[in-house]
Amino acid sequence: MISSVLPTYSRAPLSFVQGEGSWLVEADGRRFLDLGAGIAVNALGHAHPALTAALTQQAGQVWHLSNLYQIPAQQTLADKLVDLTFADTVFFTNSGTEACELAVKMARKYWFEKGEDRTEIITFDGSFHGRSAAGIAAAGSEKMTRGFGPLLGGFTHLAFGDHDALTAAISDKTAAVLIEPVQGEGGIRPVPDQCLKGLRDLCDEHGALLILDEVQCGVGRTGKLFAHEWAGITPDIMMVAKGIGGGFPLGAVLATENAALGMTAGTHGSTYGGNPLGCAVGNAVLDIIATDAFLSEVNRKAGLLRQKLEGLVADNPEVFESVRGAGLMLGLKCKVTNSDVVQAGYGQAILTVPAADNVIRLLPALNIADDDIATAINKLDAAAKSLVKS
Ligand code: PLP
Repeated sequence: MISSVLPTYSRAPLSFVQGEGSWLVEADGRRFLDLGAGIAVNALGHAHPALTAALTQQAGQVWHLSNLYQIPAQQTLADKLVDLTFADTVFFTNSGTEACELAVKMARKYWFEKGEDRTEIITFDGSFHGRSAAGIAAAGSEKMTRGFGPLLGGFTHLAFGDHDALTAAISDKTAAVLIEPVQGEGGIRPVPDQCLKGLRDLCDEHGALLILDEVQCGVGRTGKLFAHEWAGITPDIMMVAKGIGGGFPLGAVLATENAALGMTAGTHGSTYGGNPLGCAVGNAVLDIIATDAFLSEVNRKAGLLRQKLEGLVADNPEVFESVRGAGLMLGLKCKVTNSDVVQAGYGQAILTVPAADNVIRLLPALNIADDDIATAINKLDAAAKSLVKS
């Protein structure tokens, strides 16, 4: 008999009932060190007092307002994002997937308004942009699309890192190029800064829009507010979600005025997008993360974790091959099956997340304590050793 929850996930038999910073408490009382953070969502850990206060204060005022009216918390958050980034304008969503939907619509509408027949969007193997019709068509993997056809057309999929294929594929018919600066689900694969720069140049050469998907790698995760800042480039459109809500469902599409030129009244909408609760939390998250002091701590912690992970790999050569990633978006390429390592982690009360390319992802809270970094290494070491013994 089908389970009452649609069985689209293979879930671990773990039920967490309480969260405190980087720790989750299981129903049986065991405390787990959370290096997954809800897949890069709980950017400030669980039950952060400033986020709880912002949410409960807003909950006592007004929960929901239609976008038919001004929403003060939404306006404040949009102003902050515009001040902090390349963007001139922001649309709020409830998820990364919805951000993908709008990014695709915005790019196509741009060319429609310009009177040009440009609908083709270039994407890359191993990418992940969500599970909607546009999201799965954009990523294009057999695993995500099988049985869900007919797929939304107009996507050209290129091999990740194949510069020649990109140069050959991009043309004056390309509407946009859509890319994650660091692939998350694809196995923590950063796009080198030089390649992002080259991609920006190629887009400019052909007039194509550059859409960055920073749903997983954005909001401080790599040690800059947004990952593309490392390369010194800016996109035309950017998708954001996960960390921006710190655990409350919140996403956004940021765009330049030019890229957004087709998005006039009535062209897009959302009942819940930009609701007061989500935006109150988003404001609290940004007030903490978008400061030099916080981001420099992320970089320090990232250096510490990475250094210790290199030691872990050296100490467990039968289990781990290498460390990869950027900032606190790190991956351990495994020699044994990655899901076995995740499973062995459960035995040591530590949570990691599997990704493609036989990688386990480490996406801790950005404010993880140094002591918890040390504890994480001990637990991962014990998990690795348990696999070699058995
Ligand atoms: N884009 C990227 C890079 C993601 O990692 C994800 C989710 O993992 C999405 C889009 C989809 O976001 P959501 O699950 O919030 O719809």
